[in-house]
Amino acid sequence: MMKSEELFERAVKRIPGGVNSPVRAYGSVEEAPRFIQRAEGCKVFDADGNTYTDYIGSWGPMILGHNHEKIREAVIRASENGLSFGCATEREVEMAEFICERIPHVEMIRMVNSGTEAVMSAIRVARGYTGKTKIIKFAGCYHGHTDAMLVSAGSGVMTSGVPDSAGVPKGCTQDTMIAVYNDLNSVRQLMEESRDGAAAVIVEPVAANMGVVPPKEGFLQGLRDLCDAHGALLIFDEVITGFRLGFCGAAGFYGVRPDLVTYGKIIGAGMPVGAYGGRKEIMEMVAPAGAVYQAGTLSGNPVAMAAGLVQLRTLWEDQEIYTRLCRKGEMLFDGIRKILMKKGIEYQVNSVASLGCMFFTEHPVTDYATAKQSDTKAFSEYFRYMLNQGIHMAPSQFEAMFLSDAHTEEEIGETLDVIEGYFSGI
Ligand code: PMP
Repeated sequence: MMKSEELFERAVKRIPGGVNSPVRAYGSVEEAPRFIQRAEGCKVFDADGNTYTDYIGSWGPMILGHNHEKIREAVIRASENGLSFGCATEREVEMAEFICERIPHVEMIRMVNSGTEAVMSAIRVARGYTGKTKIIKFAGCYHGHTDAMLVSAGSGVMTSGVPDSAGVPKGCTQDTMIAVYNDLNSVRQLMEESRDGAAAVIVEPVAANMGVVPPKEGFLQGLRDLCDAHGALLIFDEVITGFRLGFCGAAGFYGVRPDLVTYGKIIGAGMPVGAYGGRKEIMEMVAPAGAVYQAGTLSGNPVAMAAGLVQLRTLWEDQEIYTRLCRKGEMLFDGIRKILMKKGIEYQVNSVASLGCMFFTEHPVTDYATAKQSDTKAFSEYFRYMLNQGIHMAPSQFEAMFLSDAHTEEEIGETLDVIEGYFSGI
């Protein structure tokens, strides 16, 4: 028996489903997840001594690669002064200044501990600021696991086949309205239908939790215009795209300015960090400056801030990294497209820069309904083959592949060879 299997047997007895977050389980492929011991660059090493080229990247944070020397050293140095004070620290000011001085739409920012918390708080602020209650979200977008956002959510919720979560009272979701991704008319209709209008539209500017679904030309600007016309705030959930599509995230990449933005993942470099920020007059609503309450014992944690700040500084100082990531994204995702074309297989490959995925369907994927047409059984077979060949990907059709600066052309080339091998065999 493999060590990973032994560990999983122990895990399921004491941890629900054997994992501390659902997407880690290989539920859809019915085998034990690989238990990871160590990671370096673009490689992860499991408990059985296997090495994999990793396209999960801790689900996004490891944009510089795993176990980056500068980040590791910053964490060790910061931890020598104590792990948490629960008091104000200079590094929090540095972090806030570093971001606000470089991202035009972030004039003030508040640190929290996860993407979930960032979204939950941004929504509260939007409601506090506008005095309205309704929130418009898109089917297939995932914004963390707060009650109000667990409606037609992507990611693990989509993989499990359960459209919404048990344990969420109707009262918590009755103010969440669901629109169709890439369909401005669906948003317009909801805004016109609701008597008091919406407090906010929240969107993943590149949807990456129903697989990767890029925004159609004009979609994000259209949301901006609709929000302006109806007095709603536009929230970009940049937990995945922030500092990935460029230092200014999807907002910079597409040139559309949100009122509020949420961050996670890259901002903490692998430590548990989230953040929300935006226009000053809105963010000044947050306690203790204003009347919208939001707090956190470990928020702005000194060790986490040290890690995040080094990662952000590295990204800012070496912006060529984004050119490199785009080039690698092209190499990988165009490479997959070419293989499929050569084999006469009409599966879809969606990608934006260093994010992408292959959908096991012949139909273009532009929203939740079209994403769900994918043949998840075929995906599972493919996933299992890739894993056995040393390629570590999310065990679900409805997640992204993440590239990092540590992936080399050689490793991407090897990955493409494995993919070609798979499609030669079926
Ligand atoms: N928003 C988006 C777009 C995400 O992808 C995620 C997590 N994958 C979240 C919010 C929630 O973040 P966390 O898991 O850190 O709570």
